[in-house]
Amino acid sequence: MTRVYNFSAGPAALPESVLRRAAEEMLDWHGSGQSVMEMSHRGAEFTEIAAAAEADLRALLGVPDGHHVLFLQGGASLQFEMIPLNLLRGRPVVDYVHTGEWSKKAIGAARALGRAEVHLAASAEDRSFTYVPAQDRWSLSPDAAYVHYTANETIGGVEFGFVPEVGDVPLVADMSSDILSRPVDMARFGLIYAGAQKNIGPAGLTIVIIRDNLVGLADPPLTPMLDYATHVKAGSMHNTPPTYAIYIAGLVFADLLARGGLAAAEERNIAKSALLYEFLDGSDFYTNPVDPAARSRMNVPFTLADPSLDADFLAGAKERGLIQLKGHRSVGGMRASIYNAMPIEGVRALVDYLAEFATARG
Ligand code: PMP
Repeated sequence: MTRVYNFSAGPAALPESVLRRAAEEMLDWHGSGQSVMEMSHRGAEFTEIAAAAEADLRALLGVPDGHHVLFLQGGASLQFEMIPLNLLRGRPVVDYVHTGEWSKKAIGAARALGRAEVHLAASAEDRSFTYVPAQDRWSLSPDAAYVHYTANETIGGVEFGFVPEVGDVPLVADMSSDILSRPVDMARFGLIYAGAQKNIGPAGLTIVIIRDNLVGLADPPLTPMLDYATHVKAGSMHNTPPTYAIYIAGLVFADLLARGGLAAAEERNIAKSALLYEFLDGSDFYTNPVDPAARSRMNVPFTLADPSLDADFLAGAKERGLIQLKGHRSVGGMRASIYNAMPIEGVRALVDYLAEFATARG
């Protein structure tokens, strides 16, 4: 068996140790005689699995007691809609920071709801979404229901290096592609959300962490599935949760804790991303367009000096076991996603290939 280095933006690589453990436990979880996939979500075994996953996630992120951790479905995309539905509370305006393709989707969903003015507190559109607007240039609305930003733009490769300061207005962040990549002060957030399929586990699970004083405020009232209050009250078991995805996420959390938690993960991510950016910056064949202060540690887009070589580049990469380097269909070029589970050896193998290809074809 040969495992590739998978640079996919998501669903993405998982730690090999987690996959091995899941394989070992596939037919018989801890002597229960069943696979986790076959368990009742209300049985003692799965209750234990879900509780351990939540406890480990809380420990990793330092989630304050006053915040609820929810294991939901519907992807980050459903959160684009649940957030305004639940948090508008009759306010006239919501603030969004526009930094690229994913903030655009969040903004579009809030606008589609049509219940409040969707105000762009800041936008990076003037420089093709290659930077994060400095906070002193934002125009925040004092009466906003919340401020939303996308902590890491998975397509553009633009990441916030700071947590915005928004006073008493609830701060909401889409952390789909950089959750668990670095420590964050969760007390600063009213709500964060993330699809699991990048840094957490299998697709199908969505994590929402919400401060208690934002739960149950939907006005007008919502149908149960759309209301955070339902899921808080039911401990994420209002309906059948994505049980196997929660189990794998739990293994990922335990693995991260065993490897030193998020401070250690951040060090590894700094080392991996620096290796790649330093190589790209030193080359006149490859270009990354992003402002160095806003470069993502998770998603590194780059272009070749001659785009007619893209197909050859990708074919050569695949031969070396370096897969999924093609950039998002909306922007073209290349993108290397180097989430927590990508070992530094994978980044070294990529840099070696980049150098070899530029020498041969540049
Ligand atoms: N936000 C960000 C930052 C993303 O990267 C993605 C998916 N790539 C989404 C939202 C949408 O997530 P989902 O497909 O889970 O709805």
